Amino acid sequence: MSQTTMEATASHSAARWNWHPALPIECAPVFTLPPQPARAARWFFSVGFLGSYLLPYVALSLAVWFLAHPDVARSTHLEPGWILAIFVRNLALMLLIAGALHLYFHGYCRQGTTHRFEARDLGRDDPRFFRRDQVIDNMAWSCLSGVPLWTAFEVAFMWGYANGALPMVTWEDSPYWFVALFVLIPFWQTVHFYLIHKPLHWRLLYRTVHAIHHRNVVIGPWSGISMHPVEHALYFSSVLIHLVVPSHPVHVIFHLLFLVFGAVQSHSGFQDLLWRGRAVFALGDFFHQLHHRHFTCNYGADYVPLDRWFGSFHDGTAAAARRLSVGRITPAG
Ligand SMILES: [Zn+2]
Ligand SMILES: [Zn+2]
Repeated sequence: MSQTTMEATASHSAARWNWHPALPIECAPVFTLPPQPARAARWFFSVGFLGSYLLPYVALSLAVWFLAHPDVARSTHLEPGWILAIFVRNLALMLLIAGALHLYFHGYCRQGTTHRFEARDLGRDDPRFFRRDQVIDNMAWSCLSGVPLWTAFEVAFMWGYANGALPMVTWEDSPYWFVALFVLIPFWQTVHFYLIHKPLHWRLLYRTVHAIHHRNVVIGPWSGISMHPVEHALYFSSVLIHLVVPSHPVHVIFHLLFLVFGAVQSHSGFQDLLWRGRAVFALGDFFHQLHHRHFTCNYGADYVPLDRWFGSFHDGTAAAARRLSVGRITPAG
């Protein structure tokens, strides 16, 4: 697709959002110059971050650790029993959470089109997708590649912790660091995601690997980790930071749950979950929604403004669309 065509497509399609937040969108006010501590604190304690993207994952990881995780003493040897238990648990969580979000928003359309970004529906009878169905295709990549690779990273770390091969911290040793790590992981994950995502848009890697994810221009919860296995391996490699940073197994569980369900949540296609007309839970991420439509912008996430620093930030305005529609990659998968 030529640059002119892409610009025309971008400006034409920009008019076709069903809904979008107030424009221009902004990055989280954490790394601003001069520093804005009051704004940063308001953002941190907001429903959008603490209430929807931090506390729910801390709670889920603690629930998994205490209620649904094999005894660490079993993990000293790589045996099928405990590995299978983790795999089955992860698959059940995937089916439960992504399935529930999909059915609520796209299956039974319980929120209609309120705060829904795209006017278009998920792909049906589309030859680009396995069995010509976007949801079945996305479920297949997520469950047959995503869940096994998620489990593989988790199993490797649990084996490492059980054998004393990894730097470890406990609540009793260092409660402040124990809590701080939960807060720091999403920021590290944003940096890591930018670092692996930008090269995935190099022509060869895009065509052979990343195009699988980008066939999803209209996105739903099952699109979140609908990726090629190579991309899954790169994406989950964010947890390798725990090879050097003293952590507890529950931090690794949190990190992986954040990677998986943060993506499921942010690809839901809706900005918020509404209850009686009020936004009670933040879901979608217009920052990344713009990446799925325009491809060559917003490679990271809005927690750390790497795209702003490196010139690829799309704030949703027509001016930004004109400035950024210079990609060499066509949307075809
Ligand atoms: Zn995506
Ligand atoms: Zn991409």
